[in-house]
Amino acid sequence: EAITIQELANRMAERAVDVIRMLMKQGAMHKITDVIDADTAQLIAEELGHTVKRVAASDVEEGLFDVADNSTDIEPRSPVVTVMGHVDHGKTSLLDSLRHANVVSGEAGGITQHIGAYQVTSPDGKKITFIDTPGHAAFTAMRARGAKVTDVVILVVAADDGVMPQTIEAINHAKAAKVPMIIAINKIDKPDAKPERVRTELLQHEVQVESMGGQVVDVEVSAKNKTNLDKLLEMISLQADLLDLKTNASRPAEGTVIEAKLDRGRGPVATVLVQRGTLRVGDIIVAGAEMGRVRALISDQGETVNEAGPSVPVEVLGFNGPPEAGDRLAVVENEARARQVTSYRAHQKRENAAASASGMRGSLEQMMSQLKTAGRKDFPLIIKADVQGSLEAILGSLEKLGTDEVAARILHAGVGGISESDVTLAEGFNAAIIGFSVRANKEAAAAAKRNGIEIRYYNIIYDLVDDVKKAMSGLLAPTL
Ligand code: GDP
Repeated sequence: EAITIQELANRMAERAVDVIRMLMKQGAMHKITDVIDADTAQLIAEELGHTVKRVAASDVEEGLFDVADNSTDIEPRSPVVTVMGHVDHGKTSLLDSLRHANVVSGEAGGITQHIGAYQVTSPDGKKITFIDTPGHAAFTAMRARGAKVTDVVILVVAADDGVMPQTIEAINHAKAAKVPMIIAINKIDKPDAKPERVRTELLQHEVQVESMGGQVVDVEVSAKNKTNLDKLLEMISLQADLLDLKTNASRPAEGTVIEAKLDRGRGPVATVLVQRGTLRVGDIIVAGAEMGRVRALISDQGETVNEAGPSVPVEVLGFNGPPEAGDRLAVVENEARARQVTSYRAHQKRENAAASASGMRGSLEQMMSQLKTAGRKDFPLIIKADVQGSLEAILGSLEKLGTDEVAARILHAGVGGISESDVTLAEGFNAAIIGFSVRANKEAAAAAKRNGIEIRYYNIIYDLVDDVKKAMSGLLAPTL
């Protein structure tokens, strides 16, 4: 637990210089952006005549998730599936074909809406939920936030290409998460398809399919010709039976945000996968540092629904701002509780951003000497984008730009317009702000102008990355 001097001063309604002066009396030299530990902060606060009440995460987060409930209410739920595999092996095609196949066999003319996840009915009549963003970027992002969403991984391997680097990565991710895998050997329609070779190669990575004497199920499919898709669905359903997935549907909802965006017409929109309980219109919800009241729920078929139970993905309208993919959602009893939780988290988030940023600056002298030997500089940036997908793509590209001499340091990255608090953060660290398909609001634009903070806008990732690259090599004047 730590706090910046600025934040401590704000909370006491004292001037930061007075805090710095007190610390100086104790023999410590500090800047306003420095982080001090909780004990020091408490001493300072008490010396300034304030009563200190430390709030622990456990006080605020208590009772939000995973609270034990009446086990007699437990009922089966559908499995949640993520598709992974090497690029171009057919993940997107498979997801599209599965969804399409189901529309044909289901209600005729059903509208398909891409909301980030969808449900299909397997031949045995049971439902299966697919996460509609292929690849392990989303999977690991969620896991990094502690969200366990996936019950089964479909590992797509192209029969004409075999096991490739990202196939192996996907295997490792699935194993680390202890999630069972089903292998979809794709593109068997191709003349040069060698499904047997795929099985042998998998064996070298300790994935033993049934025909090789192992336990892992494999299905030969063609996403293109829609071959064997029913069989794949059946296998998922069988695997799910083995997992014996059950939960309580009759309790306030818990879930995970799969995707979130700021929609021009509808405001903040989040796709939530309900994992426990039932989410209803009118519920008061929190996710990450955002809260709201459910105004409408929209299904993957584009239909307005009144409620969503376990394993059901829905678009949720009514958040005050877009949460982040991977944030866990909970229903709380009232708005006061929602405000308590989200203001605490928003505060934690600011602290963390400031702490990681000033970790870099705090020991500037130290860093300078390291710089002389290592010669490496940090390039502080704040990045806001319209959707999580773009944001991740941008962050991924920027990460690759880093050299031994200079690297982008992301102080904050998020979905949504550029706000005044982004500008404040930028100001503290002399950072530039980048908006991707979003704008700054009036207050933010004014604050940026006032404080000489540069905001740059982009609609094309390539341009953005290219400019940052130029700026990093000192080619682009002045600050970015
Ligand atoms: P992803 O990168 O894994 O999402 O792969 P895509 O779904 O984008 O597919 C990559 C390419 O393979 C595209 O040109 C697809 O049309 C093609 N493709 C996907 N599945 C099949 C298949 O079953 N058979 C054939 N012949 N081509 C396929």
